[in-house]
Amino acid sequence: MKAYLDNAATTPMASEVIDEMIPVMRNAFGNPSSIHASGREVKAKIERSRRSIAKILNVTPSEIIFTSGGTEADNLAIRSSLKTMGLKHAITTDIEHHAVLDTMEEVCSEERVKLSKVRLDNKSYIDMEHLEDLLKNNERSFVSLMHANNEIGNMIDLEFVGNLCKKYNAVFLSDTVQTMAHFPFDFEKLNIQFATCSAHKFHGPKGVGFLYVNKNLNIPSMLTGGGQERGMRAGTENVYGIVGLAKALDIGNKHVNDHIKHITELKFYMMEELEQKIKGVRFNGDPKGNSLYTVLNVSLPPNPKSGMLLFNLDIMGIACSGGSACSSGASTGSHVLNGIGADINRQAIRFSFSRYTTKEEIDYVIEKIVDFYKEH
Ligand code: PLP
Repeated sequence: MKAYLDNAATTPMASEVIDEMIPVMRNAFGNPSSIHASGREVKAKIERSRRSIAKILNVTPSEIIFTSGGTEADNLAIRSSLKTMGLKHAITTDIEHHAVLDTMEEVCSEERVKLSKVRLDNKSYIDMEHLEDLLKNNERSFVSLMHANNEIGNMIDLEFVGNLCKKYNAVFLSDTVQTMAHFPFDFEKLNIQFATCSAHKFHGPKGVGFLYVNKNLNIPSMLTGGGQERGMRAGTENVYGIVGLAKALDIGNKHVNDHIKHITELKFYMMEELEQKIKGVRFNGDPKGNSLYTVLNVSLPPNPKSGMLLFNLDIMGIACSGGSACSSGASTGSHVLNGIGADINRQAIRFSFSRYTTKEEIDYVIEKIVDFYKEH
């Protein structure tokens, strides 16, 4: 038996997505920038994908800029804004993904932009009063706050934060990499300037994503060399990736309520089983609150054996993560767990689920954790 519970790191591709991509790889090889028929045919596929994505998010197609994934989309939003908008103040938190945090720290120091970090409350949510103070007491700000944290699952209310940013004329980026296709979105209703997407987080291909850029903004490309994506992202487009992304988003969106129900039930089942079978177990973040239903971050009671747990689960065919697997795969030194002040004596394991996750997988994982503490 195997169990794949690391879907926040990446998800298996849906077979419908693969089926959509193969004919494009086989037959549609023209360069989308070429003006002949082969090129135009491929360009049309990109534009069809863009329209489909835009419709799902209730935006206009020109607001979608295809990128190589979430990291590039975060970089593009942050670098282009802070280098060109003349902003003097930026706001983020210590628990953002490294694609945001490292980029903000680097660009703010290069551009002499003051960087403030919003405090977290006792449940590791962003302290909204502190956010408002920071917005009020500084010049126009650039705000980057992720929609859902990839390690602990805590979420923000995009509508609330968007309205707050609007009140203080701030530019708002939300890293929506963990929530795209997992929740319905209507960007027309949100006061948001940028949002990011990565297809491999929802059963699409790796190496493709997009940046949503509000139509009132015009940003320069970070890359030089071509006028693709209306001058905002140079380089020949990842055509089959884009086609796969659009298909994966379409499937996710069509069945989103079924997926939410299935996965939430599994998450709560796993919590209950763990609480019953492992004395002193806790959870990082607030899994029963405003929490991403695909993520459960378990905090195990202090035990000298815990250091070997992940290794043992791996041997048993179980994929999960000791922190964020996105950057290093390391099981220690998670900046998110440090940022929320998690107890360093307790081993943390992030289990993350998808629509393909089964109850059998959860039972298998729980059995192996219980056995591990019994046997070792
Ligand atoms: N942002 C978040 C919240 C993520 O979880 C990830 C995952 O890796 C990324 C950004 C980076 O996305 P990508 O793997 O497409 O570069």
